[in-house]
Amino acid sequence: MAAVKLDSLGKEKIEEIINSFDTILADCDGVLWLQNNPIADAANVMNAFHNSGKRIFYVTNNSTKSREEFVAKATSLGFIASTDSVLCTAYLIANYLKDINFTKKAYTIGSTGITRELDKAGISYCGVGPDPVGENFTYEGAFTPDPDIGAVIVGFDLHFNYMKMMKAATYLNNKDTLFIASNTDERFPGSETLIIPGTGSLVKSIETCSEREATVMGKPAPYAAIMLQKNFKIDPKRTLMIGDRANTDILFGKRCGFKTLLVLTGVSTIQDIDNWSKSNDPKNKELIPDYYTQTIGDILPHIKN
Ligand code: PLP
Ligand code: CA
Repeated sequence: MAAVKLDSLGKEKIEEIINSFDTILADCDGVLWLQNNPIADAANVMNAFHNSGKRIFYVTNNSTKSREEFVAKATSLGFIASTDSVLCTAYLIANYLKDINFTKKAYTIGSTGITRELDKAGISYCGVGPDPVGENFTYEGAFTPDPDIGAVIVGFDLHFNYMKMMKAATYLNNKDTLFIASNTDERFPGSETLIIPGTGSLVKSIETCSEREATVMGKPAPYAAIMLQKNFKIDPKRTLMIGDRANTDILFGKRCGFKTLLVLTGVSTIQDIDNWSKSNDPKNKELIPDYYTQTIGDILPHIKN
């Protein structure tokens, strides 16, 4: 099925589509804001959805903040948000471990977003922060493995380095050690001149040296939707996923049976949709959204309060 350009439809049809949803899931970076800059009318759209009685959720692959920190960011940019409405990967990771009654310690490549969520879930951890390799480094005896480690977590980590890879791979050499990743985003947008490696690059690196495959918590993996289903009993057919990145947001939405709307303020482009539409590869077909529009702000006139 081809993607439908939202404003090619008449006003009545657009309103009918919007009225057919009672749950709205929005990706954050690239849809609602770009780093710390809000996208025009994004807050008005989310607030109008909320005020019209729809349930809104913020679903982000960014592991650097806890749910409370996302609420603080969203509210400072004018969005109505509560911790219940935030599904960030740091929270998903901690919640997953709590759900399976994990009682060991998690070796964590990541940042305070993850450790704050692990603290709330009562899960012990180590690993976050710089871990430099000394000048007299030798492989043998480089570190003493901690026998309490039962999981390796990989999220975004500005201190990612060889030592951390060695520790993660050593712990994962025990097949009973869980391997949990925040997300697989290859790169992040945000610079015209520089390439910004995403968490997916770190995850691939650990997958390579451990010869294991991570269990991914973020989009396009369905864990966020499974949690929503459990806690809020959402109806997939009446749920809209709004995203800017097809291989995470749109794929997630489609795999979960939601309708999908791609906005063009982030990663994926109209050219991408065009290429996937012409491609015969079923993997590319999976990336095609139901609808697309330039920016989330385009929806504002069509939300009835
Ligand atoms: N992870 C990190 C560390 C990020 O900085 C970002 C975007 O800023 C993302 C993931 C992607 O977030 P989202 O899923 O909200 O687009
Ligand atoms: Ca995004």
